[in-house]
Amino acid sequence: MAVRFDVITLFPELFAPFQSVGVTRRAHESRVVDTRLWQLRDFADGNYRRVDDRSFGGGPGMVMLVEPLQRCLQAIRADQAAAASPRLPVVLFSPAGKPLTQQRVQQLAQGPGAVLLCGRYEGVDQRFIDAHVDEEISLGDYVLSGGELPALTLIDAVARLQPGVLHAAASHEQDSFSDGLLDCPHYSRPEVLSLAAEGDLPERDVAVPPVLLSGHHAHIARWRREQQLRLTATRRPELIEAARARGELSKQDEHFLAQLAL
Ligand code: SAH
Repeated sequence: MAVRFDVITLFPELFAPFQSVGVTRRAHESRVVDTRLWQLRDFADGNYRRVDDRSFGGGPGMVMLVEPLQRCLQAIRADQAAAASPRLPVVLFSPAGKPLTQQRVQQLAQGPGAVLLCGRYEGVDQRFIDAHVDEEISLGDYVLSGGELPALTLIDAVARLQPGVLHAAASHEQDSFSDGLLDCPHYSRPEVLSLAAEGDLPERDVAVPPVLLSGHHAHIARWRREQQLRLTATRRPELIEAARARGELSKQDEHFLAQLAL
């Protein structure tokens, strides 16, 4: 079953370029991801088709009006019902939301999908949030000017987990976070790279780690695991703690971590 996203946005034109390249394109062409764009302005009143107004209580910035949002959501509900789609939860992108994680992406990738509300201006009238929003998601502790990039981010992350979308079927299984650790470093041709002199550094040759050329699969797997552990312990020690708490570190892993002088 396809994962369906109904996106409420004032800028639907931002989505098409992204769906026309690479992984997100394959996911949409093969219809494992079905993104429907809803121009909020189509649900606004009057000649000016207002979707925002001043904030009660004063202060700078405009607020997204409840009524166009409600009419838009109603139209989405009708469309979902006509397509025999289940009632999808409403996600609002907001700095006040829960930070997006690969774990949440994996859950959303199982379907059936969500209504994605892209905020603009100062945000959405709180009464719409209280009445209709099931989940608030943040991309991180910084402020964007709209929810479109967060929506594209979520759709991209979900698309690449769909079966048949990545060229190498299992490649997302070794991505960062899929096993709770950061990814290991990757190398490709040439085996020996000649670097020109630069600043204080002389001309030099840089080789690929020899184990990767050994053809010994168990050694390669062990080396990669250790690189993951080293990188994660250095950059994101809390992820090591979490993996340990889940019982996902072997004796061998612990031994390797213990002899890392951090
Ligand atoms: N006044 C709000 C910011 C509004 S920014 C505040 O201070 O929290 C306009 C819109 O951009 C928001 O409604 C939200 O949909 C989106 N947005 C901005 N930063 C975001 C973030 N870190 N994560 C998710 N969405 C974000």
